[in-house]
Amino acid sequence: MADTIFDKIIRKEIPADIIYEDEVAVAIKDINPQAPVHVLVLPTRKAANLTELATMDTEYAGEYLKRIALITEKLGLTSDGFRVVFNQGRYGQQSVEYLHAHILGGRQMEWPPG
Ligand code: 5GP
Repeated sequence: MADTIFDKIIRKEIPADIIYEDEVAVAIKDINPQAPVHVLVLPTRKAANLTELATMDTEYAGEYLKRIALITEKLGLTSDGFRVVFNQGRYGQQSVEYLHAHILGGRQMEWPPG
């Protein structure tokens, strides 16, 4: 699987604003935020996308999803709400082929998304 910018961030080869880190996930501030809070949650075990995560160890996948929820709490987003997005592939406009959950918060979202 090709190396991506997020592989390098996980390996600490390039800097990022890391707001959470443990053996399961690393959460960083998005470099080009689309909301007052825009955080990316990366699994420490590489998967290219959500489809690949579904083939991985179920316990690990569950722990990764729990980290996303935990980080929304740490960011103080649960009372007003937030949005979690996984972009995948061409139609999803995924630009980095390393699974990442976008956590977006701090403003009113709209539906449908663009
Ligand atoms: P995607 O389009 O793949 O769903 O999302 C990729 C996200 O990664 C984009 O929101 C983009 O702003 C963010 N991003 C791209 N390169 C970097 C980087 O080097 N550092 C950080 N923190 N975010 C990045």
